[in-house]
Amino acid sequence: MASGKNRKPLKSSKAVPADKKSKIRLLYIAGIVIFAAAAVLFFLLKGSKPDFSGTNAYNDLVKQCSFGPRVPGTEAHKKAREFFVERLKKYTDLVSEEHFTYRDKKDTSKIWEGYNIIASFNKDNTKRIMLCAHWDSRPWADNDPDPSKHNQPVMGANDGASGVAVLLEMARLFSIQKPDVGVDIVLFDLEDIGDENADEYPDKLNPFAIGADKFSEMNPNYQPAWGILLDMVGDKELEIPKEANSVARAGSVLDKVWKAAEKFGYKEFKNETGGGVGDDHIVFLKRYIPVADLVQSPFPEYWHTTHDTPDKCSSQSLEKVGKVLVEVVYNEK
Ligand SMILES: [Zn+2]
Repeated sequence: MASGKNRKPLKSSKAVPADKKSKIRLLYIAGIVIFAAAAVLFFLLKGSKPDFSGTNAYNDLVKQCSFGPRVPGTEAHKKAREFFVERLKKYTDLVSEEHFTYRDKKDTSKIWEGYNIIASFNKDNTKRIMLCAHWDSRPWADNDPDPSKHNQPVMGANDGASGVAVLLEMARLFSIQKPDVGVDIVLFDLEDIGDENADEYPDKLNPFAIGADKFSEMNPNYQPAWGILLDMVGDKELEIPKEANSVARAGSVLDKVWKAAEKFGYKEFKNETGGGVGDDHIVFLKRYIPVADLVQSPFPEYWHTTHDTPDKCSSQSLEKVGKVLVEVVYNEK
């Protein structure tokens, strides 16, 4: 053991003076506080969801109607299509149109030209969710109380524009805050040229949901984990029961939706099973892809009449549907 003679003093000459020591301590505490605040902020932001604006959605409903009824083959239809593509391209580079044709079964000389519009978010994510709505208007108001108006087109503020309006606002939100899953917004064309009893005379009458059928046919490998279809979701007196076909084959999706609606206390989502609706989701249910149809039923009185106009709808109803959608999509991992 070395003698104590040459030992260095216990306090080296580099010893920190007391005032400097307290400064270091302060800096140390400040560092911890800043780190903790940053961590809290990070977790708060991580858990937060973007804010759906019913006003934005309602404005987009009115905008669609300002073109006129979006009946395939008309100028209004073309203008609306251009508007959707232009708007969606602001939110994602991945916007495409799928053109298809359909030969009318009642007038076999007539060929309908349809366009499905697809906007994708988080393209590399293999888990995909499909949010969809039809964007076309019915060419005939065959349910109008005034028979002389049966050949006039339906404006489709609720039947068409409402669902698309919600999805355009969703697209804006996806562009500012990415969800954890991949999302495809699909706007179907040619949903609404169908005849009521087409199932009985499939060779002579036109079915509903032609655009969704064509989309399914043109994208046979598209396999989203689940989907939500919006149709007639803008009525001022919104009432959405659980659509019967969705109950049968997309119950897990309905559970997510109703859980979110319950969280917000939205009584518009009725805790009961409604009628079955022949809509764009059926083709996916047949392929065992659970797509739930959120649709008002019984249908409003003005359904397929010339009275399906923006004044029947409200930003509040669109906002409730939108907020539920935000909750469901941003909870998905
Ligand atoms: Zn319709």
